[in-house]
Amino acid sequence: MLVVHHPDQRLHDPDQVFRTGKFIAQPDRAERYDIFLGIVRRDRHEIVEAPLNRAEAVTEVHDPAYVEFLKGVYRRWIAHPDYGPVVVPNVHPTHRMHKKPTELLGELGWYSNSTSCPITEGTWPAIFASTQAAVHGADRLASADTPIYALCRPPGHHAYPDLMTGVCYLNNAAIAAQQLTKRFGKVAIIDIDVHHCNGTQFIFWDRPDVLVCSIHVDPRLTAPYYAGYADEIGDGAGKGTNFNQPLPWATPDSAWLQAVDAAAARIRGFMPGALVVSLGFDAGEHDPVAAFKITDHGFAEAGRRLSALNYPTLLVQEGGYLSPSLGGYLGSFLRAFEEIAA
Ligand SMILES: [Zn+2]
Repeated sequence: MLVVHHPDQRLHDPDQVFRTGKFIAQPDRAERYDIFLGIVRRDRHEIVEAPLNRAEAVTEVHDPAYVEFLKGVYRRWIAHPDYGPVVVPNVHPTHRMHKKPTELLGELGWYSNSTSCPITEGTWPAIFASTQAAVHGADRLASADTPIYALCRPPGHHAYPDLMTGVCYLNNAAIAAQQLTKRFGKVAIIDIDVHHCNGTQFIFWDRPDVLVCSIHVDPRLTAPYYAGYADEIGDGAGKGTNFNQPLPWATPDSAWLQAVDAAAARIRGFMPGALVVSLGFDAGEHDPVAAFKITDHGFAEAGRRLSALNYPTLLVQEGGYLSPSLGGYLGSFLRAFEEIAA
């Protein structure tokens, strides 16, 4: 397995977010990067650092004005001596409001929909490095004879072309998939993070060349709430290329792996040239999200079944939060994936 990463991903590390009427621990800590890197080093995968030279790949998916905003918002924020140390929005438009303002707080609210995407000095370099790990993984896949794991942090699958949400700023998997369509034609994405990939779904909603399959906790119960339902199947030329499988709280390995099999069947029928796995581990039984009950064995089995599809595959890290089990989930998945690929 070839692993692509970049150490700048550590630079984003706000420690708190405001939720449920109080400050709680921010789930996406820099320590996640250390844990993932530690596991791939332990397991002696080939590890390369992504060059940070493919900025144009980001704006093939994201609104250039949004990307410029992300790049510059911290500098604008600290010009206000009475503002706090972390960029956090406090006002947002609804679907009834359509004018984008240029004043800082108004513009910040325009590009976000919650308090879950705090921004500090290191946030831009970290999220850019995260995209570049995914892009370099996609670039290497054409000539690789092994699967590639893009160690990406912050995660990306909730991010829309011009919206940060759910600890995601730029959609690493979508940016990579867009690059892969140029080399491989049709691309399938399977997202096994416990949350629905609302950003990825939106980005490829009317695209006939990208199949998006997501297995996630029922959005009636938790975030992203406003998308992820089974009747969302894509539209226009992309009608039928979006496949959501919402599942109940406490879903165990057996039912989850059945959903993996159903997605795998859809992927085979789509006949893609390459596969992107949005690889979240927050479905794990010991993950602090505490939604599903997936075990080490379950993640290994998912790795085996997705590897058996036998497509050139890019694995893109999504969620999966701090617990003593986090590194083990990644290790189990990668080992099982590689056994079948070998
Ligand atoms: Zn998640």
